[in-house]
Amino acid sequence: MLDSDPLCNVLYVDLTRKRFRVEHRQDLFDSQMGGAGVATQLLAQECPQGCDPLGPENPIVLAVGPLTGLFPLASKTVAMFKSPHTGNLGESHCGGRSAVSIRMAGYGAIVITGRSELPIYLAVHGGEVHFRDASTLWGMSSSLTVGRIIREREPGSGLRTIMRIGKAGERMVTYSCVSVETYRHFGRLGLGAVFGSKNLKAIVVSGKRSLPVTSNRTYRRIYRDIHEAATTSPAMKKYHDLGTPQNVLPLNKLGALPTRNLREARFEAAGEISGEAYAERYLGRRLACSHCPVACIHIAALREPHETEPYFYKTSMISYDYEPIYAMGPMLGVGDPEGLLRLLDRAEVLGLDLMSTGPVLAWATEALEKGLVSDRETDGLNLQWGDWKTYLEATRRIVEQPNDFYAALARGVDYASSKYGGEDFALAFGGNEMPGYHTGPAAHVGCLMGARHSHLDNAGYSVDQKVLVERELSPEELANALIKEESWRQILSSLVICFFAREIYDRDTVLACLKSVGYDLDEEKLLETGLAIHREKFRFKKREGFSLDGLRIPGRILETKSPVSNLTEEYIRATLDHVGRVLA
Ligand code: SF4
Repeated sequence: MLDSDPLCNVLYVDLTRKRFRVEHRQDLFDSQMGGAGVATQLLAQECPQGCDPLGPENPIVLAVGPLTGLFPLASKTVAMFKSPHTGNLGESHCGGRSAVSIRMAGYGAIVITGRSELPIYLAVHGGEVHFRDASTLWGMSSSLTVGRIIREREPGSGLRTIMRIGKAGERMVTYSCVSVETYRHFGRLGLGAVFGSKNLKAIVVSGKRSLPVTSNRTYRRIYRDIHEAATTSPAMKKYHDLGTPQNVLPLNKLGALPTRNLREARFEAAGEISGEAYAERYLGRRLACSHCPVACIHIAALREPHETEPYFYKTSMISYDYEPIYAMGPMLGVGDPEGLLRLLDRAEVLGLDLMSTGPVLAWATEALEKGLVSDRETDGLNLQWGDWKTYLEATRRIVEQPNDFYAALARGVDYASSKYGGEDFALAFGGNEMPGYHTGPAAHVGCLMGARHSHLDNAGYSVDQKVLVERELSPEELANALIKEESWRQILSSLVICFFAREIYDRDTVLACLKSVGYDLDEEKLLETGLAIHREKFRFKKREGFSLDGLRIPGRILETKSPVSNLTEEYIRATLDHVGRVLA
């Protein structure tokens, strides 16, 4: 790490006392590089063991990496906190302008603790930190409007990031998200609720620093190679053309698209809500995170007639990705593309994580169908597969929580099913609702064992499709393959590289990039660092009460046939045992 690099500056903010200080933490950035590595250490240091995730002592850590602002697609910010959704490690990644703005403001990480008495938002402009009154923004029905107002008030246009919560965060729905630049999110594990618990409506960051490199010539050469790969490789072109919804049709064809709460794995209306269908009929624009030439973010333009005025239309710009489409589409039996867009828009406005909202509503629909709950609990709503209008209203009620049932739904399917029954079809892993892959054993085991209980932890779905489709793996072999991938991903997320670019940032490229910013590592040291960060996360989870033995395995994933093999509980438990031994 170069001495002149401001990356080592950590901004500590105390919302209770309205104070801040900056510490130079070269120790942290030298050993952990940045992003996930640094954030894991800061979380372990700042989060008291056993603290209430919605209490003032739970820290919010935001960290970027040494390649941010210098190399394409090193565009993510890693957020770490104790999750109010799972009670252990909360980790969420987001792009937009967030990472570049934090770095240009002169920081490698920001740590926020305490709780403001009144609603505020935090404005960080380079070395200036302001605690602004947000009383008039609190309770606003749309998080989009909040962003617009802050844009009017704050300097740094074109350079700043605006992270904010909606009503879901204010009401502390444990899977509320933080929206960034409107179409990007810290989606999973309830960062929005942690903001809400601190009376923190938003954070704005801007700055104009410049960044040092060791050799301009070498830097330019590496940059050019990465840029070329990012703009010419067929995989990246597909991200640009169709975005992640390119996955809908192949997964459906495989029989791996969770449908109607995973009672089925093929959706008859997949063609209506595919990436191709949205691109042809609704695509309004594409966007990119800062410093990314790929532009995978797809925005639909939905033109809706006014209810009473003839020839009067409102056009909404709504982002769509594979995971939200899966969660609010097939999972709920919704095949109407415009109805689905309205559901995505409703969750965006309220600030909910769609990947949890969909499985929560799917569980509620099945629980109603099976008589575990009645219309007394649903407050008169007759939840039925495909009925997007009723789901629109149910989404609003999850945030408003008019009775105990919706308050339970606001805490996720694990909690709701522990109260009302139906655990067999409550689709969550380690407390986090399932992603849209029923590809085989590796996808589900990967989510159960992953630090975030996310498909992004170790991409088990890819092991299913590339390895298990050819041959079976013993539990040890599967565990080792998933740990290897998850440990490597610790490096990528410590450098905050977008996972879509993981094929471009292979080991040699990563080492060359690191060298150009002053890190002299070899491959062995790099892999050791990845495994050490992985173990550190696991240690934090265990410290907060997590145990692999205590994981609930939803019976539904064993019942519905997946493309590569049938799962058994014994196989899953044996794999998890091995994971526990390696990571201990
Ligand atoms: S590929 Fe997409 S998600 Fe990744 S940095 Fe680029 S625009 Fe952002």
